[in-house]
Amino acid sequence: MTAKKETEGSPSQWSRVVEDVIRESGLPIVSDERVGGPVWVDVRELRLRYLVPVKRIQPFFDGLRRGRVMATRCPAKNIYYFPPQADCPTCLDENLEWVELKGEGELLTYTKIVNKPASFAHYSDYIVAIARMDEGFNVLCWLAGSLEEIKPGMRVKLVVKKREPEGFFSYYLEAA
Ligand SMILES: [Zn+2]
Repeated sequence: MTAKKETEGSPSQWSRVVEDVIRESGLPIVSDERVGGPVWVDVRELRLRYLVPVKRIQPFFDGLRRGRVMATRCPAKNIYYFPPQADCPTCLDENLEWVELKGEGELLTYTKIVNKPASFAHYSDYIVAIARMDEGFNVLCWLAGSLEEIKPGMRVKLVVKKREPEGFFSYYLEAA
């Protein structure tokens, strides 16, 4: 059994593979090419669903629904926070301004993610990129597009698209 087969697919497919391995070999131990050897697959499945309070950054999500990308800014220090923070970690001011980002910047670097974390295994391979926004801070997020059409130094912009298959709004970089 190859490690590729073990590490692809949904958690329920995984569970079935592990059940087969236990029946065949007596132990839930599989070969995994990412760790370069055998791994014990815990047979107790742990499901996590995070609940993150967002009341104080509600304008960010209201913005996404309208196709806009919002950040917070400390008026005293002129520092942008993105993803937005409710409080300024520099001067502890809790009254930050909400600003709509122009959303344009320069692509610094990127990588294509082929080996995904378990909770991202259902997505097609995706590109994660870092861009320097014109406002003077870096953004790390997915880049919509193909490797052929991007290179470091090119102009990029932030866009709001739905993350499928879940269908929720998120922000992406794409070629400007
Ligand atoms: Zn501040």
